[in-house]
Amino acid sequence: MTFESLGLSPALLRALTEQNYATPTPIQAEAIPLALAGHDLLGGAQTGTGKTAAFGLPLLNRLSKQTAANGFRRPRALILVPTRELAVQVTESLRGYGKHLRLNISAIFGGAGMGPQVEMFRRGVDVLVATPGRLIDHMERGTAKLDSIEILVLDEADRMLDMGFLPAMKRILAKLPRDRQTMLFSATFESQLKQLALEFMREPRQVQVAAQNTIAETIVHRAHPVDVARKRDLLVDIISRRHTDRVIVFGRTKHGCNRLAEQLEDSGLAAVAIHGNKSQAQRQKALRDFKTGKARVLVATDVAARGLDIPDLPLVINYDLPMVAEDYVHRIGRTGRNGASGEAVSFVAPEEGGLLRQIQRMLKADVELAVVEGFEPSRPIQLNAPLPKPGGRQNQGPRKSHRPHGKPAPRHAHAHAGPKQHRSGGHSGRGSRSGIGA
Ligand code: AMP
Repeated sequence: MTFESLGLSPALLRALTEQNYATPTPIQAEAIPLALAGHDLLGGAQTGTGKTAAFGLPLLNRLSKQTAANGFRRPRALILVPTRELAVQVTESLRGYGKHLRLNISAIFGGAGMGPQVEMFRRGVDVLVATPGRLIDHMERGTAKLDSIEILVLDEADRMLDMGFLPAMKRILAKLPRDRQTMLFSATFESQLKQLALEFMREPRQVQVAAQNTIAETIVHRAHPVDVARKRDLLVDIISRRHTDRVIVFGRTKHGCNRLAEQLEDSGLAAVAIHGNKSQAQRQKALRDFKTGKARVLVATDVAARGLDIPDLPLVINYDLPMVAEDYVHRIGRTGRNGASGEAVSFVAPEEGGLLRQIQRMLKADVELAVVEGFEPSRPIQLNAPLPKPGGRQNQGPRKSHRPHGKPAPRHAHAHAGPKQHRSGGHSGRGSRSGIGA
């Protein structure tokens, strides 16, 4: 599957190549052809799945086909988002995809001065990314005119409802032309949201990424409690102890993956990293080295690994737990294929207990927590620990993905909140290793 085969314009394809997007993510592969054909879409997808391009590429494709009727440009596409951060992120992504198109893409959100936003409307805008409250302010002032909107996107719609934006969304929807294309993306579809979709959409097609149950039964799931600071030593310990040819290790950030690959090299383990900052040529070389056995360890971010033709592997290691449980499914889809046995090993720092709980809920099973001798964590893993904050740092460097809802973790204890944390046998205590450097 390639972006070319999805029917996007050459200017968009060029921008994608420049950004090293080699293959569409599953939601992109499903959504783009439907959206290009003009259908309304209900997309079940979270951040990190590539949903911005899933709606952004067809949207830009459509707008670029026809230029605005006159020099005074009113917005033709409106993207409603719950937060200022998402507004900025979506705007940046769309500007990247649309860099070879002559479209103005701008954002308005609360907490920023009105003046520059009013000026932006005066100069003309084609694609408007907005938080609902601020858009209402501009509608009331008469600066935002929505009568030319051809495409509406509701991004993270469940979160907008959670944040109390339903009345504002309805007011905005009432001002939009009826003859338009509507795309709604949400991680969950509760009844209020379904109702909204029924009212404001025309026979929407549904697209959903990763059915929940695509995990092979032949996979053994194991978790090792370990402090963040000791994860790398544990990784070296496990990989050196096992005689596996190839291991894929998932990290959360591009920077973290790079550094980890370098540190593994320093420890004598041939490793390569793939992530979004690497060029297509670099990624292909890394993958080739991994496939031919030149590199034993492939360190990857979730998005970089997606769509890559990685061979079946006996062992997948989650160095950092994924922020979104669904990514766990994608990650371990690399092992245990076609009835082969596979193992998914996760390193769980005490502060990552909440993330492990998410995964257990999705798997509908406990994951055995086995302490490796010499790597005992400084405190027990609390499965009812709050989830890491969307903007906060967990391990290394900044990261992009965040919890889909931004809701605090439920406070009640999960049924498996008191896991047995026993020692896994057979490992001679290796104590702490030094010399790998932090
Ligand atoms: P999103 O879910 O839209 O926030 O996207 C998550 C991350 O994946 C962003 O950093 C995108 O730039 C990146 N991304 C989206 N689609 C692709 C793709 N097809 N190939 C590589 N990276 C992608």
